[in-house]
Amino acid sequence: MTPRKAHELKRDEPIKASATAALLSWYDANRRDLPWRAKPGRASDPYRVWLSEIMLQQTTVAAVGRYYRAFLKRWPDVKSLAAASLDDVLGAWAGLGYYSRARNLHRAARVVAQDMGGVFPRTSKELEALPGVGGYTAAAVAAIAFGERVPAIDANAERVLARLGAVMEPFPKAKKQLAELAGPLVPKDRPGDFAQALMDLGAMVCLPREPLCLLCPLGDECRGRRLGIAESLPRKAAKPDRPLRRGAAYVALDHRSAIYLVRRPENGLLGGMLQPPLGPWQAEFPAPATARRDAPFAGEWRKKLGIVRHGFTHFELELEVYVAHFEGRPTGEGRWLAPQELKGAALPTVMRKVIAHAVARSRLS
Ligand code: SF4
Repeated sequence: MTPRKAHELKRDEPIKASATAALLSWYDANRRDLPWRAKPGRASDPYRVWLSEIMLQQTTVAAVGRYYRAFLKRWPDVKSLAAASLDDVLGAWAGLGYYSRARNLHRAARVVAQDMGGVFPRTSKELEALPGVGGYTAAAVAAIAFGERVPAIDANAERVLARLGAVMEPFPKAKKQLAELAGPLVPKDRPGDFAQALMDLGAMVCLPREPLCLLCPLGDECRGRRLGIAESLPRKAAKPDRPLRRGAAYVALDHRSAIYLVRRPENGLLGGMLQPPLGPWQAEFPAPATARRDAPFAGEWRKKLGIVRHGFTHFELELEVYVAHFEGRPTGEGRWLAPQELKGAALPTVMRKVIAHAVARSRLS
């Protein structure tokens, strides 16, 4: 089909209801088999839907699978998760990133187990009152697990809808328009399948680059395609540059290679997770004399060659790593973990990188 000019399309008209039927039949034939999904015709378990949706926030399906299975095996229902210690939950979450999700997951499990008798609330409005459950997650759980007729619009669905309706407004402002576009399309009888169909179509057909429009069940109705602008959508507001912060990390090792770790404050970045002691994060690295002065204990602190880099959502971090070996164990507020204890510890990826850098066979200065 040749691209049409904008004025030839009636862009204010609602999308035809036949788009819903076409999307659902495509879903029935092509749906992804995901570990948290109920088999066709089976009821979804709200605990599984909620757990997977929290894990999938800002994280890919491929990265989540292993964590989801491990969580489900260890904590098969909301009551067992509520009974777990926060430290165990953070340890099992380590590597998945955005650790406030794990703390909120644990808090929400306790609310459901202790205040709600272990039964999840059924409406998106009530679900949104749980810690860590935002508008999208509440809508997804309500639609998939309880059949509420609400649009659940994740990043994949956003892309499909923005193209389907040729929504020109940049994100995040366009979110309201997308909800208005999607609302009437959600069918009464299969709202959960509709939500998952949009997600799957975005993941498998309406790809960020080079969407496979010839295979798309929404092709006839898709205004972005008909205008020849699909690939340029959705539009996004320009992101500000991420600032760079730099600092020093201190890896203290005892004679058996145990490492001294401290816990971060409960709230804020990487809250409640473990880390080697760190100096302040500033625009520049501290001078070696300053870094040694700020070390957690007196010792022979030597700087490793090279730096550790890590990207957070709002800034980039670079750390220089200082290493010291001790015969005994200097005492402080932290604790010493043997090498075999590190695997299951609540250590975020960036701190694992710091430790790996510290113990790697590279030169000290
Ligand atoms: Fe996406 Fe193309 Fe389908 Fe439109 S027709 S929804 S752009 S894959």
